Amino acid sequence: MIHAVVGAQYGDEGKGKMVDYFAVQADMVIRYQGGGNAGHTIVNEHGKFALHLVPSGIFNPNTVCVVGTGVVVHPMNLVKELKSLQDGGIDTGNLVISNRAHIVLPLHIWQDQYEEASRSKKVGTTLQGIGPAYQDKAGRFGLQIGEMKDLEHFRSRLLSTYEAKLKRMPGIREFGGSFDDMWNELTAAREVLLPYIQDTLPLIRQAVEAGKHVLLEGQLGVMRDLDWGVYPFVTSSSPISGGTSAGAGIPPTAIKRVTGITKAYTTAVGEGPFPTKLEDEMGKFLQEHGHEYGATTGRPRATGWLDIPTLRYGAWLNGYTELAMMKLDVLSGLSEVSICTHYDLNGQSYDLPLPAYELEQAQPVYETLAGWTEDISGCRKFDDLPEAAKEFVQKIEELVGVPIRYISVGPERNQTISRE
Ligand code: GDP
Repeated sequence: MIHAVVGAQYGDEGKGKMVDYFAVQADMVIRYQGGGNAGHTIVNEHGKFALHLVPSGIFNPNTVCVVGTGVVVHPMNLVKELKSLQDGGIDTGNLVISNRAHIVLPLHIWQDQYEEASRSKKVGTTLQGIGPAYQDKAGRFGLQIGEMKDLEHFRSRLLSTYEAKLKRMPGIREFGGSFDDMWNELTAAREVLLPYIQDTLPLIRQAVEAGKHVLLEGQLGVMRDLDWGVYPFVTSSSPISGGTSAGAGIPPTAIKRVTGITKAYTTAVGEGPFPTKLEDEMGKFLQEHGHEYGATTGRPRATGWLDIPTLRYGAWLNGYTELAMMKLDVLSGLSEVSICTHYDLNGQSYDLPLPAYELEQAQPVYETLAGWTEDISGCRKFDDLPEAAKEFVQKIEELVGVPIRYISVGPERNQTISRE
């Protein structure tokens, strides 16, 4: 069974928890796109971990964890992440890194800072070099991580990349450092990472052909997709389920199950349109009760009501076979809860798709439902939920047309209602 777990909103939906939940039964977990700029927070019997690049199956020693070809890897940060897992008692021997994954070089971080500083309208990048690394990949300047193996080859490629980049973009110099510093950092990381780097395709193909349970883990969500998101406030890769095929190396016809992960409300980090954003007390309530601060950056996330057009749009683009609704517990204590059913733009009713510059102007149209006051974090069955919470879930299923098969009522793995 090939099973993709994708973000149904703007990222940070809680994919990490659900991948950890599904990974208990998975033989392989593959990260198929993105870099270490977003983070999954996992709370399980080993403790609390912030994962940035390592797939969430790492806690299960029998699960092969693949940093896939579509991912961009910052070697030094990956070394730190491995160390923090090892310090927490986790054996990372089940990790493999695709030799075709691209390297995020210090150069890319300098470039990210330079480019964001020179934009009049900020994209809201995390300044970790992810976008520039993808630019270089598409521009055919990039370095694949497998190129680290041959030290002489690596040095010569790195040197020519460094010289070419400074020539093309002299402005990055003010954010940058020396070649030697970059070289020293990368070669230190290389020592740690070499044993993990391999051609992952034979391994993946073997798993797929043997009918193993393979989980595909994405970063961010549909609204940050390079093609279909709120361009230009998007990431430089494809979080949608179609991206799994290219990024992991799996035929699209093999993907049989797609779980879209959504919160019971909406959050977003960075710039760009967010029609249901609340800047009042209600927004603060969601931010505080949901602990909505970025796992990697610590930036407070903007919060708002659930946006159904986003879920419907994602249902088409991703082909959700089911949804998982996260953080339903955060809405407890409200007398009323709202959901945005569609938008109004110049007196006309709209759904997605809308380009970002039009979505900026769109006004959300809400339907208000009864809230509930009970603490639901101990509920383990759908029937344990208060009537109003059940009606909230059922209303969303009806509006989106996709079953909500999982409901999460707390950060821990067992705080999950399965309706299978
Ligand atoms: P991801 O990047 O999509 O995995 O999302 P994050 O890990 O950044 O954000 C999810 C955060 O919410 C983490 O701190 C989780 O521990 C927490 N979380 C996940 N599911 C729930 C839930 O159902 N209720 C509550 N209260 N917290 C949750």
